[in-house]
Amino acid sequence: MIFRQLFDGPSCTYTYILGNEGTGEALIIDPVLEKLERYIQLLDELGLKLVKALDTHLHADHITALGALRDRLGCITVMGRESAVDMVSMRLDDGDTIEFGDIPLRAIHTPGHTDCSYCYLMADRVFTGDTLLIRGTGRTDFQNGDAITGYHSIFEKLLTLPGGTLVYPGHDYKGDTLSTIAEEKAHNPRLQVSSADEYAAIMDNLHLPDPKMMDVAVAANLTIGASVSDPMVEENTLSVAEARLCLEKDGVLFIDLREADEQRKAGVIPGSLHAPYAGLSGHIQPGGILRTPAARSAKTMILYCAHGERSALALRALNDAGMENVRHLGGGFNAWMRDGGPAAGR
Ligand code: FE
Repeated sequence: MIFRQLFDGPSCTYTYILGNEGTGEALIIDPVLEKLERYIQLLDELGLKLVKALDTHLHADHITALGALRDRLGCITVMGRESAVDMVSMRLDDGDTIEFGDIPLRAIHTPGHTDCSYCYLMADRVFTGDTLLIRGTGRTDFQNGDAITGYHSIFEKLLTLPGGTLVYPGHDYKGDTLSTIAEEKAHNPRLQVSSADEYAAIMDNLHLPDPKMMDVAVAANLTIGASVSDPMVEENTLSVAEARLCLEKDGVLFIDLREADEQRKAGVIPGSLHAPYAGLSGHIQPGGILRTPAARSAKTMILYCAHGERSALALRALNDAGMENVRHLGGGFNAWMRDGGPAAGR
């Protein structure tokens, strides 16, 4: 595995790039907008294709690069279900697996610093965002933060991981880069408490000033949904009602761009063809899933994903590849279920 820990000086943020040498795919955790060009250059130098960009939570001290990376590189954006962000490609729940070649990541919901805070566990290491810092913990006094909840997240979800698990935090203000669960358990001054109340007493008396960029960063980070309104995409967006009418028509093929785990959890539109978004360029190539006789004979292909972001990106890619008669389901499977569309198990 290729592993890089990158640092943004002004916000003291750590960003992580994980590269799968087998598949050439990469994933980035907590990217900072100001460093966008650096990430793109590094990915290029390492010969990696970015497939997913994850934020551990809605940041208040820097502007996320999630939306910019999606617009530039077509990657999937990922955050927790609880995040107030307007749009990401994929929303996670506690215990979800994030597919990444043969090295899956597990999402652990750890509310406390914010209500949408997640840690990502991968083999021997955990990316803790602001939930657990080196000899510290993330403040709990804004963005629906809560010290009692934070205590339970840290003590019951993180400190129960094997002691040797490497801790890679979302920030460090002193220059430390890495710790372990055992080390933090023994030496993190905030964790030398015997109850949630004792922890809350420490956290509620920190009296920290608001982060310098808070007003700008939170507002920007709440609206990262695809910003470029593309008339072609708009023209070819179907509402749930329109898509439901197509279910009964001959020659209409629904194409599910979500990952297997998302299908298992939520169900699928009956009769869908599965073509995960991460493999889209292959699906479009001669011999790919979207070039098979069954797909070619379809009069209309309706792309869908969880929230309508991946399907909009894919619609553009298919259009660029000269494939016509392609539509996408606005709002995705989420809207489909909300509006009473029929679903089948995978
Ligand atoms: Fe934070």
